Amino acid sequence: MKTDSFKLRHLGPSDKEVNDMLQTIKADTIDQLIYETVPDDILLEKPLKLAPALTEQEYAAHMQRMSSKNSVFKTYIGIGYHEACLPAVIQRNILENPGWYTAYTPYQAEIAQGRLEALLNYQTMICDLTGMELANASLLDESTAAAEAMTMLFAVRSRTQKKQNTTKFFVSDEILPQTLSLLKTRAIPLNIELVVDDHRKFNFSDEFYGAILQYPGVSGQVYDYAEFVKKAHESEIKVAVAADILSLVTLKSPGSFDADVVVGTTQRFGIPLGYGGPHAAYFATREEYKRNIPGRIIGVTQDLNGNRALRMALQTREQHIKRDKATSNICTAQVLLAVMAGMYGVYHGPKGLQYIANKVHNAATIVSNTLEKLGFKQCNTLYFDTIKIQADANQIKEIAEAKEVNFYYPSDETVSISLNEATSVTDINTIIAIFAKAANKEAVEIKEIPSSANIESTIQRDTDFLTNEVFNTYHSETELMRYIKKLERKDLSLNHSMIPLGSCTMKLNAASEMLPLSDPQWGNIHPLVPTVQAKGYQEILKKLEDQLTEITGFAATSLQPNSGAQGEFAGLMVIRAYHESRNDHHRNICLIPSSAHGTNPASAVMAGMKVVVTKATEEGNIDVDDLREKALHYKDNLSALMVTYPSTHGVYESAIKEITKIIHENGGQVYMDGANMNAQVGLTNPGAIGADVCHLNLHKTFAIPHGGGGPGVGPICVAKQLAPFLPGNPLIPTGGNKAITAISAAPWGSALACLISYGYITMLGTKGIKQATEYAILNANYIKERLAGHYDTLYSGERGRAAHEMIIDCRPFKTNGIEVTDIAKRLMDYGFHAPTVSFPVAGTMMIEPTESESKAELDRFCDAMISIREEITETNAENLNNVLKNAPHTLAMLTTDHWEFPYTREQAAYPLSYIAENKFWPTVRRVNDAYGDRNLICTCAPIEAYMEEA
Ligand SMILES: *Cc1c(COP(=O)(O)O)cnc(C)c1O
Repeated sequence: MKTDSFKLRHLGPSDKEVNDMLQTIKADTIDQLIYETVPDDILLEKPLKLAPALTEQEYAAHMQRMSSKNSVFKTYIGIGYHEACLPAVIQRNILENPGWYTAYTPYQAEIAQGRLEALLNYQTMICDLTGMELANASLLDESTAAAEAMTMLFAVRSRTQKKQNTTKFFVSDEILPQTLSLLKTRAIPLNIELVVDDHRKFNFSDEFYGAILQYPGVSGQVYDYAEFVKKAHESEIKVAVAADILSLVTLKSPGSFDADVVVGTTQRFGIPLGYGGPHAAYFATREEYKRNIPGRIIGVTQDLNGNRALRMALQTREQHIKRDKATSNICTAQVLLAVMAGMYGVYHGPKGLQYIANKVHNAATIVSNTLEKLGFKQCNTLYFDTIKIQADANQIKEIAEAKEVNFYYPSDETVSISLNEATSVTDINTIIAIFAKAANKEAVEIKEIPSSANIESTIQRDTDFLTNEVFNTYHSETELMRYIKKLERKDLSLNHSMIPLGSCTMKLNAASEMLPLSDPQWGNIHPLVPTVQAKGYQEILKKLEDQLTEITGFAATSLQPNSGAQGEFAGLMVIRAYHESRNDHHRNICLIPSSAHGTNPASAVMAGMKVVVTKATEEGNIDVDDLREKALHYKDNLSALMVTYPSTHGVYESAIKEITKIIHENGGQVYMDGANMNAQVGLTNPGAIGADVCHLNLHKTFAIPHGGGGPGVGPICVAKQLAPFLPGNPLIPTGGNKAITAISAAPWGSALACLISYGYITMLGTKGIKQATEYAILNANYIKERLAGHYDTLYSGERGRAAHEMIIDCRPFKTNGIEVTDIAKRLMDYGFHAPTVSFPVAGTMMIEPTESESKAELDRFCDAMISIREEITETNAENLNNVLKNAPHTLAMLTTDHWEFPYTREQAAYPLSYIAENKFWPTVRRVNDAYGDRNLICTCAPIEAYMEEA
């Protein structure tokens, strides 16, 4: 046995444990188990063609070599991306800390108070800087956030009589090019008509429902938009502003000139460029839109004792409830990046941010002044960080690249320079030297960045921001380190115990996969540099695309979508483009089984399709007769079927090939939701079942950590006929030869995070990656067997096996007054995060252990579940003062002088012996969701506010 093989570190069970588990589940071998689980007509005949697995050491050396193929130039391209300084204390204690990066989305609020607080800080920071009332806890990137603003305002337009049937949306020609591309993508299916023009010429016609402006403009020019917004509002036109977050430190906030929505990216708050992402976008708006805002909002509420507690507010699972009535499909967002950007605000505070913003502006000013002295004309009359120089772009480009400097060249006669936090005096002298050489003049060396006169007073910020205590306390490294630790301790992550989330695949995120993310040779590449400077990235991204294409059995892959749901939307838009290319413009019906994830119908509607729901059988499978009937009925207009495989019920439906055939026969394409790909890799694939396109959640199956709710990467893989339509980018060629417009801002989406999945596949190789799937199935069936007799499993395959996950029924306990939530909360006392609750069936739990968990951990989890089952036996509906209803139990409860519960302290907090040596303490009692929704507070209020309330 090669003991240095990565697979041994990734797979949980040892050989001996595998044998023990096989015995328990009554299978002789893994092969037999797979035979009993996966229908044989879809099994792959040949092993995947992947390069031989690398060891962790070999992989590190390989990545070192590849990173040296990237040329890290000093880059002043801007256009929404700027070099930033990631404080080392944040890098080490958050980005490189599994306590933060392996956490799940904070659905279980009682064991997520740390990241919830970090996100509340983020929302507060965004509200302060934008001057808005309400902000969410991140979106995917600035351009998608802008598109969300356009669609949200479209959805709410009918609130004013006058606007009910309006479809026009004005876009300033100062918008970022990638944002314009995304607005187009999202406008087409909704029949929104974009009108792009100079905002100074806009006539505020009644035909418009909304408008979007860029602040400062893409040219760098800062405009005073107060008059525009005022006039727009007179015509009942709502205005969104895409704003540079750092500029808002010195510029008037969009809220102060009455903007309705403000969006942007927080990348420049300490987040590496990473060749395009991941970065957190923000979305801020008025309180009146609190029920329409896309994504997740963190809000303040109370726990059972009336203590302050946080949780996700309102439409937390918006698409899951609204489904085809939803206007946004955002599920996974950019939580880890929002946490980091928020911490950047905490660390620097208002004074620190002011210093940074001034420094950037002063750098722009000195460069502008010096270049003007050299005889160049600077076109921006008012600017924050970006100046626009009239010069021979080709000549400057040549000199600049020789000095390893990138500018942006909007035309042959203009050079745009965006200064940033990392720009030093030396850097400024290099810029000056480049222009001096072009002008054939002597460069005057500057010695320091002088503080210049500030931005014109009419648009200068005159309101305070970040006045809350949290932004004025943790400015030393010791203080911030301890603050981060204090929050981390409140959260249960994979570094404490397994997180058995059905459909969400919380597997190991190996350190060796994560390490390259800290390397500036990967982190410090701007997404719009000439591709020759990113050879390392280009090679790795191509290899990853090829690996994913091979794994899915398809023809091509796009890494662009930033989440699974964005992948769904991208895939459906590709299908749409395919139909249109064949003059099938009318094909707009999308069949979706009733058990589908809420993002499926939401994405279909966003892609302009009509959702027709198909039935499930008693056994939880797709009702093939019903499907055939509907496919036939709609055959003239059928666009697609969206199907999850194995199904969301945890079963490999044996009729899948028949299902895909029915769709094809009736002119449709098959979209496979790849969230359950962990049950397929190496055994079968979407190509083999007859699908045409799928998304993969690299943050589920392919080891990107969940980050507490993001980042995600949701590539789409497609069959040959769809490959030409893979999404493009307006500035950097990518995608198919008939590419649809952009799905994400950056050409390769969140390229930096893609390295993790590349590491995962490269270190596991053909055998390891198949074994991962087999072990995932083994672990799930082991849990199924151990829980048998205690809990009913809802669905199984034809031969009685579960796939990689299973659903257990908790509805029968209602007669004892016990709800599925009580079991979820009680698991916290046992040191576990609950499985997925009430999806896809209300009142149930979906358990997915993954291949990374050892038998010992599975046993602890099963022991906990069985022990809880016994506790349920002792409860009754008449008296709900019991150990489940009162769960979770906090340390404060346990250590009060008066113990008033009808069970012992030991029963409350140490019900099983394994707990004592590794106790996890929830820091709040059960949170009150209804209270928080009635009294919505989404920013950190000053501490006095809580004292008054109490
Ligand atoms: C997670 C998931 C999605 C959505 O993926 P995101 O990355 O969160 O957008 C879609 N479908 C299923 C079945 C999922 O489990």
